[in-house]
Amino acid sequence: MTNDPVKNQYEMRDPQTQYPRPPFPKQPQSAPGLASEMDPTPDHGEDSYVGFGRLKGRKALITGADSGIGRAVAIAFAREGADVALNYLKVEDSDAEDVVKLIEAAGQKAVVIPGDLKDEAFCKELVQQAVDGLGGLDILVSNAGKQTAVEAIADLTTEQFDATMKTNIYAMFWITKAALPHMQPGSTIINTTSIQASQPSANLLDYAMTKAAIANFTGGLAKQVAEKGIRVNAVAPGPYWTALQPSGGQPQDKVQKFGEGVPLGRPGQPAEIAPLYVLLASQESSYMTGNVYASTGGTLY
Ligand code: NAD
Ligand code: MG
Repeated sequence: MTNDPVKNQYEMRDPQTQYPRPPFPKQPQSAPGLASEMDPTPDHGEDSYVGFGRLKGRKALITGADSGIGRAVAIAFAREGADVALNYLKVEDSDAEDVVKLIEAAGQKAVVIPGDLKDEAFCKELVQQAVDGLGGLDILVSNAGKQTAVEAIADLTTEQFDATMKTNIYAMFWITKAALPHMQPGSTIINTTSIQASQPSANLLDYAMTKAAIANFTGGLAKQVAEKGIRVNAVAPGPYWTALQPSGGQPQDKVQKFGEGVPLGRPGQPAEIAPLYVLLASQESSYMTGNVYASTGGTLY
């Protein structure tokens, strides 16, 4: 199904065949799902991401850092020299343990803070614990997300609608508000939006609207905090091979064909998007703020 394992992300090769292409096996999991249960195993950069000291000495808080895109970002940040505080749900402890080992193997500190972001009090506590554990905060990555596909609006419950809003929008608002007073000039905030913000799917009404809100919030906040020397950007993934999808993010028949519809013909692997977060976190992107950077396999954001 795939070429040789990807040993690094720097060797020239055909991106169409760099990673597995559909069809994939059906693999239902209950939300939030575990990366360790996925087939094929996602690449979060465990064996492929090489750091170059681009975030030396930085202190980062990443939500949803146990699996998927958040895990790939945590690995990349640690290999670039940052200490990392990780948030995720307690049921994902086993995935998070793998990430902690990788951060420590990179010679960096990992601060583990599991908890439910739908709770405002916890979001405030999360930031305080991250600041205390890391000795400050200069990178915030709001990445946790809830995605549950529902075919008809008649079946979209108020309970789900509320949980999606809380997880994807309220938590970002609460965490950002609590984090900003701790951030010095040069600090960066990175939010995770989606191709869904501009191209909503029929079965993701609640999810897609949160992703549009995240992109919009990113633009407004960037204007507000520019005078503090703080930059705010968002990353927009297309279809990425993560636990979000087989755990209710897509119907199982769509999981089998996941990524088939984009020009590159396959889903992205989390390792392929982490470099965007590194760029946006580092001083290399000093003139980049208030924008959305997409990695979609060929679909215009
Ligand atoms: P993932 O399931 O691996 O990561 C999402 C994480 O969100 C989970 O690991 C979980 O720890 C966290 N989370 C969910 N509800 C939470 C809650 N109530 N409290 C605390 N943490 C909670 O999947 P992923 O695809 O890596 O998702 C990361 C981000 O990327 C999400 O914002 C998602 O919307 C976005 N995204 C993903 C895709 C894709 O195709 N995978 C596409 C576009 C955007
Ligand atoms: Mg997870």
